[in-house]
Amino acid sequence: MKRLGVLGWPVAHSRSPAMHTAALAALGLSSEWSYQRLPVPPELFEQTTRALGGAGFVGANVTIPHKHAALALADSASPAAREIGAANTLSFATDGSIAAENTDAPGLIGAMRHDAAGCSPEGRSVLVLGAGGSARAAVWALREAGAREISVWNRTGARARELARSLGARAVAVPAAADILVNCTAVGLAASTPAGSAVDVSDRPVTSGQDPLAALNQLGLTLDLVGRYSYVVDLVYRADGSTPLLRAARERGVPALDGLEMLVAQGALSLELWTGRVAPVDVMRRAARVEPAG
Ligand code: NAP
Repeated sequence: MKRLGVLGWPVAHSRSPAMHTAALAALGLSSEWSYQRLPVPPELFEQTTRALGGAGFVGANVTIPHKHAALALADSASPAAREIGAANTLSFATDGSIAAENTDAPGLIGAMRHDAAGCSPEGRSVLVLGAGGSARAAVWALREAGAREISVWNRTGARARELARSLGARAVAVPAAADILVNCTAVGLAASTPAGSAVDVSDRPVTSGQDPLAALNQLGLTLDLVGRYSYVVDLVYRADGSTPLLRAARERGVPALDGLEMLVAQGALSLELWTGRVAPVDVMRRAARVEPAG
């Protein structure tokens, strides 16, 4: 059996296992391949990940908080993963070596381009909110896709300045006007996330609501400000496809793309890397959007 999985902490509610298991079945690979959750705390990440190849694993997706560590432990990495400084996809070779890739970056651009509202970043100005691993991937990807100007706002300004310096963007002290708004913070993820905390709940889909205005305020936004962008992307995803930012955008008539589309796009690229087969994207999208029972 060729094994695949998603490394994270926590990872209990990740949509990746459902999405990849459905894809493997659609490709007729279920008897040879499997995909599972790999809940691994940071202190065990390196030793666990190094042992995966010997345990029959061919590849793994990586979610927070391990994307930086995944790149650091890999024996080789794509130029994109190196420039971004984070990896979300690992491949384990039979000689024991580990290769790192970042499919978040092309996943974001692919999801934007294939959206019904069809948004290409080329020649457009973009404001990226956040300065973590996904913000780095987003800024790199938007730059490569020809965005005219990229501004970065983050709660902790020093991190925005460092990201902007290393990836050729512009750090801003307050959310600036732009054509496109891309939220790469964890705000909107959990009703229970206390304001001001950076609680690591990356892969948890949330079923309860969150005060939309409070969530917008944590991002330095108001309903009116959201209405001034011409396209909004929220990397945060929920099984029902709705976050406070997405609700605000839709209320103001702004086309909006939810994080599940990027999840599907980055997952499809990872699957193609591991199996060499064309990923069944529609099957993956349906599986990602189905609310888990219970
Ligand atoms: P990360 O590296 O931990 O970064 C978290 C970011 O969120 C930081 O910029 C942090 O600001 C900010 N933040 C956290 N709590 C905040 C709050 N209460 N108010 C304002 N800012 C806050 O995480 P990441 O890997 O970049 O992931 C960020 C989000 O993107 C997660 O929700 C993740 O699930 C999602 N994501 C989705 C996909 C997808 O395929 N859809 C892919 C990757 C990531 P500070 O620097 O000030 O702490």
